[in-house]
Amino acid sequence: MKKIFVFLLVFSLISAVFCVSGCKKDEEQLATCAILDVKLQNQVLSGSVLYNCNNGSEYSLFHLYPNGIFLNAPILTLTVTQVFIDDQKSNFELVEEGCYLKVQNPKNQKNFKIIIYFETLLKEDNGRLGIANGIFNCAFFYPIPCVLQNGEYQITRYTKWGDPIYQPFLDMEVSLTLPSVYVVACGFNSSGVQLFEEETTYYYSEKKVKSFAFSASESFSVTSKKWGNKRVNCYFIDELDGENTVDFIISALNFYTQRVGESPRENFSVAVSDYSSGGMEYSAFCVVKNSKDKSNFLYALAHELAHQWFAHGVGNNEFAHGYFDEGLCEYLTAKFLSEYYGKNYYGLYIGYAASALSGYKAACTRLNIEFNGKLARDLSSFKNSEEYVVIAYRKSLLLFNEIEKEVGEKKFFEALSKFYSKYKYKNASMEQFINCFSTKRAKIKKIVNSF
Ligand SMILES: [Zn+2]
Repeated sequence: MKKIFVFLLVFSLISAVFCVSGCKKDEEQLATCAILDVKLQNQVLSGSVLYNCNNGSEYSLFHLYPNGIFLNAPILTLTVTQVFIDDQKSNFELVEEGCYLKVQNPKNQKNFKIIIYFETLLKEDNGRLGIANGIFNCAFFYPIPCVLQNGEYQITRYTKWGDPIYQPFLDMEVSLTLPSVYVVACGFNSSGVQLFEEETTYYYSEKKVKSFAFSASESFSVTSKKWGNKRVNCYFIDELDGENTVDFIISALNFYTQRVGESPRENFSVAVSDYSSGGMEYSAFCVVKNSKDKSNFLYALAHELAHQWFAHGVGNNEFAHGYFDEGLCEYLTAKFLSEYYGKNYYGLYIGYAASALSGYKAACTRLNIEFNGKLARDLSSFKNSEEYVVIAYRKSLLLFNEIEKEVGEKKFFEALSKFYSKYKYKNASMEQFINCFSTKRAKIKKIVNSF
């Protein structure tokens, strides 16, 4: 193969050193770093992921998200082909209808490496994983560790609505190979590019991330701007004012940084794509629907960017308490858009959320449908996506607005900022957020319980 050399850090060497020296011990995590090597060819993503494990649990458990998220698919989308533990071929089993990979850990050995070989089939689909209008949206396509909490793996049941996601933060090294005709949208730090005749390999390195995701298309245009010492990229196919969109992204990132704390990432990338909902957030990257309605587009963009702070800066169990990060992001989005459009936007948006909730309740009464208005419940308890949206987005915004009314905006942001810096790159909960308020904690708890 003729090699057109551009730039390459010695990936394999760095990766080997990285996983020997880079991992800190953490009893609560199955692994703290990963090396992902993946290739996109035709409609298949194939490769391996290596996890450097350092825990004493009996077995390792990994999410095979595509097999759950596309539960109705006639065949499993993510296939595990081989597993090795410390270079020895290992048995493995798929459990929970093929949604999880279970591997027995070596006995009396705390530190070991698991390498999993996988193949993931991409279908025409405008969701998190699939080909939509010529754009390959690739997320959750490889085995991802479950959270290990108090010695127990946290299982999330996969649902058609919400983000049934709960993952530990990991340091990642990635090599991604795909046909050279594709432009790749990804927010991870680039550590090199190697061009071959027909293919290109991109190398990435990023600390404390939940997972690696990217989009790729032959038709992507990109607008890129510096944001302080960081960089913001926007990838799009349809007609889009790239300059103004990137300026909007930078305004949002500035707002969240000033109000909450230093951004969790060096770079941010946004891919504008055909997408089934408003968008989806990943570490340093998000996909936003190419809505023709400009205000809807900017709203979704501001919301997905807020997730860099809550979901990908501080994480939470999005299956058990999906409202938590969604509500915080709704609150931040409304605050930012108030500054962007003018001060009364926040009040209007709170009014919209309140009428959406009361309108849904009234519709349920009219149609004789039971309405469960409880906020803190897991995704499997929602009857449909409408109920999920009205509770996890609208009602949760009303909750955070109610807390703000109790303590004042200044104290609310002080607590949010404290919560962010205390739990950055960790998973945390509503209770831990309440404990970050300097006063009125009992009153806030009462408000939360009343929702
Ligand atoms: Zn969201």
